Amino acid sequence: MGERFLTEIQGLLPRSETFSERCGQRSMENTPGPVWVIAEQIDGRILTVSLQLIGQARKLADELGASVEVVLLGDELDEHPQQLFAAGAARVYLGSDPRLAFYQPELYTEIIVKLAQERQPEMVLIGSTDVGRELAPLVAARLETGLTAHCIDLALDENGVLEQVVPAYGGLISIICPEKRPQMATVARGVFPTPELDESRTGEVILLDVPDELPRRVQTLEIVREEPEGVPLESAPIVVAGGAGVGDLEGWRQIAELAKVLNGALGCTRPAVDEGWAGLETMIGQSGKMVSPELYIGVGLSGEQQHMVGIVGAKVMVAINNDPHAPIFEQVDYGIIDDCREFVPALIDKIREYQAT
Ligand SMILES: Cc1cc2nc3c(=O)[nH]c(=O)nc-3n(C[C@H](O)[C@H](O)[C@H](O)COP(=O)(O)OP(=O)(O)OC[C@H]3O[C@@H](n4cnc5c(N)ncnc54)[C@H](O)[C@@H]3O)c2cc1C
Repeated sequence: MGERFLTEIQGLLPRSETFSERCGQRSMENTPGPVWVIAEQIDGRILTVSLQLIGQARKLADELGASVEVVLLGDELDEHPQQLFAAGAARVYLGSDPRLAFYQPELYTEIIVKLAQERQPEMVLIGSTDVGRELAPLVAARLETGLTAHCIDLALDENGVLEQVVPAYGGLISIICPEKRPQMATVARGVFPTPELDESRTGEVILLDVPDELPRRVQTLEIVREEPEGVPLESAPIVVAGGAGVGDLEGWRQIAELAKVLNGALGCTRPAVDEGWAGLETMIGQSGKMVSPELYIGVGLSGEQQHMVGIVGAKVMVAINNDPHAPIFEQVDYGIIDDCREFVPALIDKIREYQAT
């Protein structure tokens, strides 16, 4: 279902209608530089999105005849390059130092920019994580190049230029950065598959120095993590997502209850965040999370593509909407035309009855 939807919305706007973003003046060199991934780790664990980006970087680099290089910053990371090699990296630039233990926006930017100026990567790919969303524009601005946020596909055109695909204008568009280098994109977890790790692969580790003069305007002193409530969205087998049609906080509580009785995770569309019913971390879609549950139930949401691109991996999709013409009904396997304020409590009762038997 997910792949079918993506193909259909791609069909709305042919790839030839490319939006060309002219990012600067410097010409592309004949020999492509490496494809870079800025990898991210939390408490020493490499994030899945970084491994997924290395897998995609490998494909792009193979087509280009380039190499894949990864930048990894943090502390006590000496064992980590092997996992990056196993995912497809040929070289790892490793900054492993207590001063890099926490993400430091200015310091991380400084190190990456200096390295990029020296090594001239062709592309720089970064995860659309909380850190990546801040770091990518900081780096792009310093390198005076373009950046496409929240891409849902990356491919090469016939000239080897990176097509950075995002939903827009009722379809998908490819943004290209034809002149300035590096070409930069952020991508959420789940857009690309996690590559199979080949532990026999090896590569080169280059250790990075931390500058003596540290930028001091902003410093991360401590990171306090909120424990996510319930099942994490990205790995949940059942996802219930609520939208504007839920109506108010009382309606939202019903959706949350539905997710709970199904032992599923609760997601949302943008209006639910704007209304303050749900946190941004539960938003699904282009600028939110990518989910791939066995069962997705969309309640009181219209099926706008910026939300739907986040659920292309869902196996079975169900929509509850009181408008029979809502676009969501063209994109799901099962549609229920009803007022969610009446249908959802009745559904919860039925599920409870069933569970009690
Ligand atoms: C650059 C960009 C990025 C974006 N990124 C995201 C993103 O990551 N995620 C995201 O979700 N959005 C994103 N958006 C916003 C997106 O375009 C839509 O505006 C949003 O997804 C619409 O949310 P919705 O379906 O809840 O609301 P609406 O489109 O307003 O739909 C509400 C639906 O509820 C139905 N309804 C009303 N009352 C009831 C009822 N009582 N019972 C049942 N159904 C009812 C209506 O028929 C309607 O279909 C982005 C937009 C932009 C421009």
